[in-house]
Amino acid sequence: MAERLTTEQIERYSRQIMVPDLGGKAQMRLRDGRVLVIGAGGLGSPAALYLAAAGIGTLGIVDGDKVELSNLQRQILHATADIGRPKVESAARTLTALNPDVAVQTFCTRFDESNGAAIAKDFDFIVDGSDNFATKFLVNDLAVKLGIAFCHAGIVRLQGQVMTVVPGKSACYRCLFKTPPPPEEILNCQASGILGAVAGTIGTIQATEAVKYLAGFEDGLLTDRLLVYDAKNLRFREIEVRRDPHCVACGTAI
Ligand code: ZN
Repeated sequence: MAERLTTEQIERYSRQIMVPDLGGKAQMRLRDGRVLVIGAGGLGSPAALYLAAAGIGTLGIVDGDKVELSNLQRQILHATADIGRPKVESAARTLTALNPDVAVQTFCTRFDESNGAAIAKDFDFIVDGSDNFATKFLVNDLAVKLGIAFCHAGIVRLQGQVMTVVPGKSACYRCLFKTPPPPEEILNCQASGILGAVAGTIGTIQATEAVKYLAGFEDGLLTDRLLVYDAKNLRFREIEVRRDPHCVACGTAI
């Protein structure tokens, strides 16, 4: 492990260093950690903000879009003056302003089959904040193949879902959902809207999972269960997910 924390770092992170389950050693692991956030949108914004604030050493941000007025209701990395600018640019500026200690790597592109493995390969953990099923399945398949732990999430209207995958140890996204839903269902989702604070709750859970993973929490990750958040009735429930030996991504029987 690299050198000790500086006096300034000890002060900046003092409130989390005080947490008995974390402490100085965990803080050094966070400083040496690399997290890739896919999408600087409704999920990626709160996730990246909390990860930068927590002192993750390197944050990668992938997004090929530009900031639009209709993004600002939930994508809290961006401000009104950023409209028309690449999201990765305003994300990097916001995160660096919050914590100059964090090295922000930007990828101004859509995460797809042509670039996904090259972008993801050097990261320790992936926060999947993508907004479409094709990317969610791609993130799963690539992360499983490369052995990178990740946190999946999805949000629609007043609902969210989230699950962590540790390849080789826990069930993957494809163990739960074999294939993307039919096109009409996808269109339905995209036209459904989302409350910003719901995205904030789920993205913040993703950041918590990334911190826990990097800090070395062996147990307690959101693995082998999908957490479903119903904001309308303010209820959380869990769906047990079993590893499928015939899963096309992580199966051991094929
Ligand atoms: Zn699987």
